[in-house]
Amino acid sequence: VAQRLEKFKTTIFTQMSMLAIKHGAINLGQGFPNFDGPDFVKEAAIQAIRDGKNQYARGFGIPEFNAAIAARFKKDSGLVVDPEKEVTVTSGCTEAIAATILGLINPGDEVILFAPFYDSYEATLSMAGAKIKCITLRPPDFAIPINELKSAISKNTRAILMNTPHNPTGKMFTREELDVIASLCIENDVLVFSDEVYDKLAFEMDHISIASLPGMYERTVTMNSLGKTFSLTGWKIGWAIAPPHLTWGVRQAHSYLTFATSNPMQWAASAALNAPDSYYVELKKDYMAKKAILVEGLNAVGFKVFPSSGTYFVVVDHTPFGLETDIAFCEYLIKEVGVVAIPTSVFYLNPEEGKNLVRFTFCKDEGTLRSAVERMKEKL
Ligand code: GLN
Repeated sequence: VAQRLEKFKTTIFTQMSMLAIKHGAINLGQGFPNFDGPDFVKEAAIQAIRDGKNQYARGFGIPEFNAAIAARFKKDSGLVVDPEKEVTVTSGCTEAIAATILGLINPGDEVILFAPFYDSYEATLSMAGAKIKCITLRPPDFAIPINELKSAISKNTRAILMNTPHNPTGKMFTREELDVIASLCIENDVLVFSDEVYDKLAFEMDHISIASLPGMYERTVTMNSLGKTFSLTGWKIGWAIAPPHLTWGVRQAHSYLTFATSNPMQWAASAALNAPDSYYVELKKDYMAKKAILVEGLNAVGFKVFPSSGTYFVVVDHTPFGLETDIAFCEYLIKEVGVVAIPTSVFYLNPEEGKNLVRFTFCKDEGTLRSAVERMKEKL
């Protein structure tokens, strides 16, 4: 394997899902729903295939989908963007992240990450030859240590890569935190790459796109996808929204990474984004019920549960059960209890920092969540 990928192993999500199958354990690890996406979106995909939308799509997205993305972004953030010049459709948000990094970051540029961070960020930055500076968000509230952020920014800092609502902690960046990031970026001429795939799973506060703050649109790439919001994680439809001068870099990388994204799925994705607001209201209601089952259950089992404001994840401290590390705890949980969680140490540059924390997901039907809680009550 090439040096740029030497230190990376099979992703933790793949590892844990394989173990779940091997041990017949309930999988509250990898974040994918065990229920299906909405019928009207599936029907739109079938119809698009029947209608012959089966050859290459336009490289940066079919016009109908780019327009639907711009319309939704206007509703959500108030920003008016040109669907032809400022929206790029990608094969999932993971590709949007890669196209953004590879299209806008030079080898040696510094990029700031907040740990714990989603695993693809570090691997993709490594592929681009970027230098990572990492700021750790600490429990119980995972607030941004402002002074550490200030001292991490240097004249070599090209971008901050952030994620709100935040995987794995469920933290949402507050207006005050976003204001500080914004003023630091403007002052030091730094870009923001903002992964907002959990924006519709914001339970405790309103989601704010940092691009909507004064002076920020021109320096921000906002990334999102269909997977979480429509329970279609296997479709891999994502997008990046950015002003034309940044979109140019994103599109150049995208052109040579995947060239274009699945054509029929973009037709279906347009139908999805044109759904009435009631869809999002229902989604949130369903997820709040699931979250309550899991959080109450984890508390009753005896974990120290950290508050999660958004996403379909919750992070707990496992140390009341006496195991040394997150990995050891997760192994025990799979083999002796029959439940899968995600150890968080892989989401830090220094794994020590995550050794007390594990992540559970509640994107499963209520029966599955209850059975997992029962198993833990009995056997932990
Ligand atoms: N985003 C999902 C999670 O955090 C996993 C995606 C993947 O398996 N790479 O669980």
